[in-house]
Amino acid sequence: MIRIPFNRPFATGNELDYVRTAVAAPKFSGDGPFTAECHRLLERSLGVQKALLTTSCTHALEMAALLLNLGPGDEVIVPAFTFPSALNAFVLRGARPVFVDVRPDTLNIDKAQIDQRISRHTKAIFLVHYAGIACEMEAIMPIARRHSIAVVEDNAHGLYARYQGRYLGTFGGLATLSFHETKNFTCGEGGALLINDAQFNERSEMLREKGTDRSRFFRGEVDKYTWVDVGSSYLPSDLLAAFLRAQLEHRDQIQSRRRQIWEAYARELASWAQANDVRLPSVPPECEQAYHMFYVIMPSFETRQALISYLAGFGILAVFHYLPLHLSPMGLRFGGRQGDCPVTEDLSDRLLRLPFFTGMSISEQNQVIDTVRAFRC
Ligand SMILES: *Cc1c(COP(=O)(O)O)cnc(C)c1O
Repeated sequence: MIRIPFNRPFATGNELDYVRTAVAAPKFSGDGPFTAECHRLLERSLGVQKALLTTSCTHALEMAALLLNLGPGDEVIVPAFTFPSALNAFVLRGARPVFVDVRPDTLNIDKAQIDQRISRHTKAIFLVHYAGIACEMEAIMPIARRHSIAVVEDNAHGLYARYQGRYLGTFGGLATLSFHETKNFTCGEGGALLINDAQFNERSEMLREKGTDRSRFFRGEVDKYTWVDVGSSYLPSDLLAAFLRAQLEHRDQIQSRRRQIWEAYARELASWAQANDVRLPSVPPECEQAYHMFYVIMPSFETRQALISYLAGFGILAVFHYLPLHLSPMGLRFGGRQGDCPVTEDLSDRLLRLPFFTGMSISEQNQVIDTVRAFRC
């Protein structure tokens, strides 16, 4: 029986009030008043010039691939350790992934290996800020500029994290957020596209509205709307935006609780980790993290598996994370081979994520901590 789940979605208490208001409104579809409010909240809090809610982070990534006109013959640099959505986004358009290994300390794309994987076909880098801890943007942005390639930040883990004082999601021309129930802020399923390069403003609205200029029509800028581009239906219902508004308005409450949980794990597990040759997450000094997850790196695959089943025996659900993408059935079709990304291959086998969610009680966390501390590698 599961006593402590890996994740339990959190509601702030204001969600139903907003959803009730949304249900009383004459409009349930997308781009209503709650969507506009979420756009404003994200734009103002992050300082981005344009945010658009989407039905998921996956769809925001697909919009990015469309906006960058990625297609057959194009290559996109990706870390071998990320979520498949970032790759599907451009593979669906016919572009190919080029895998780069990650750093052993942060599990983020290794800047030192990007240059050598760039070819004349490279059009973009789709990176992820793993666990809401920033990639080395100070080095990566100049590499991208030098080669005229776009940077898309998959910031599903890192809303309100910073790098050198600046919010993640504000570095690349485009960035994406996820509001899936496993993320810090949620409406069940949802996402957003952040647009830092204003050349994408107008086209992003059309792609999101079935390739039509309906947004312009609603603003009264054109007197009829029609099919002007490719596109799909990437806008969420205003009912979901109502739910999300309550979450975004509780930024401080959500993030400070997650910070307490993260810091308690780090503090209470430090001596156990040292005694058992276990590594805890490292957060570089220029990074303010998002408190999205708490992972440990075990000494071996065997000890990782042993800790997962040991915790399961106490009803505590701990989980591993991404499998190396270059060795996945799809990755192999793009030429991935064992040994291409040794750090990813090694750490993916040894990483374990502990239960971590906003509504986790102190007693729940203490049970996890006490149980982990009794485990010997
Ligand atoms: C959760 C996640 C996604 C997918 O998010 P959805 O909103 O479920 O589409 C993409 N990338 C990363 C890094 C994620 O963690």
